[in-house]
Amino acid sequence: MREICFKCLRPKDTCFCRFLAPFDPGVKFVFLMHPKEAKRQRTGTGRIAHAGLIDSEIIVGIDFTKNARLNELLGDPRYYPVLLYPGDDAWTAKTEGFKDEIGNRKLLAIIIDSTWFCSKKMLRFSPNITSLPKLSFSGGYESIFTFKREPKPEYISTIESCYYLIKELQSAGIVPQTDCECLMTAFKEMIKFQIQKENDRIEGKIPNTHATDFKYTRLKEMPKF
Ligand SMILES: [Zn+2]
Repeated sequence: MREICFKCLRPKDTCFCRFLAPFDPGVKFVFLMHPKEAKRQRTGTGRIAHAGLIDSEIIVGIDFTKNARLNELLGDPRYYPVLLYPGDDAWTAKTEGFKDEIGNRKLLAIIIDSTWFCSKKMLRFSPNITSLPKLSFSGGYESIFTFKREPKPEYISTIESCYYLIKELQSAGIVPQTDCECLMTAFKEMIKFQIQKENDRIEGKIPNTHATDFKYTRLKEMPKF
């Protein structure tokens, strides 16, 4: 039996925790996962982010209205909870007054770590999350994870979201400067691993479960990072 890493729940030989130097970003990250996706973690980055971010948590569910742990966090006066979500009414780290709004509380960033489809469902069921102030990015970012098919190219992975959010909060002086590069390092290693796996499958080195769809028969170029 393959040994499993207790932090990221991946088999130990394909775990990326060794690239992580866990750090405290000064923000508490909470990852909300759909139960279906909490199990299927081939391309999920939430668990890797969680392994690198001290004080982060994963909460699994669909309807979070009555989730005891989440509601406990939302009601804790030490935190200023926000939902990481785009919108015209969303704060960004740069928005005037945001730092004062947080005051001496700790930012609690809630991230829906799910595909676009599952996220919509989770949000529809959970008014306690949708009623939270929203936080979005002031910059525009593109994912380096190009083969993950999401409806919009500007969708970035969970681990990239954490990375860019920390960077923006640091620039705005909302959180202290910490070295968060390990998040991107682990992510890049994950991408290279996935591409290698895909190519091995195409070349017949490991069993190919995909049909003869051309997307799955052309070798992918290894990124230069
Ligand atoms: Zn691991």
